[in-house]
Amino acid sequence: MSLRPILILPDTRLRLTSAPVSGVDDDIRALLDDMLETMYDAPGIGLAAIQVGVAKRVIVVDVAKREGEEEEDVKEPIFLVNPEVVKASEELSVYEEGCLSIPEYYAEVERPERVRVRYLDRLGAMQEMDADGIMATCLQHEIDHLNGVLFIDHISRLKRERVIKKFEKEARRR
Ligand code: ZN
Repeated sequence: MSLRPILILPDTRLRLTSAPVSGVDDDIRALLDDMLETMYDAPGIGLAAIQVGVAKRVIVVDVAKREGEEEEDVKEPIFLVNPEVVKASEELSVYEEGCLSIPEYYAEVERPERVRVRYLDRLGAMQEMDADGIMATCLQHEIDHLNGVLFIDHISRLKRERVIKKFEKEARRR
């Protein structure tokens, strides 16, 4: 396993549409392991492959460790290959979201409160998961990444333009 560098806004690769994975093989499992390590190191609760520059429909999430909790070894990683939302509730909920590709920026985003997600697991078996709360938000946020969509696309245009400008300025400084 190894850490991979995380792409930061305004890296244009974050806007790519990722390609479906044809089969879950050892290469995909190695990618999943690297992504999980990178996510824990950051630290974050979700990561999409495109955030480490790989345009494949692969995400990892772990919402077990909530902010402010001291338990270090509570780990419940979930690996999702080709994830798709197959059902979404009409009820919406609002969470303050952040993104490892947009560090230290947070904003409230409204999304369906509950979703059913279909995906292939680490062994390539088809699975379905019903999620609510932070897990529902996290899954929708990560699946958005696979379509080149960032959480700032869900906020007002004024706020979005302001944050993009800020990151463009920082990128020029780097
Ligand atoms: Zn993100």
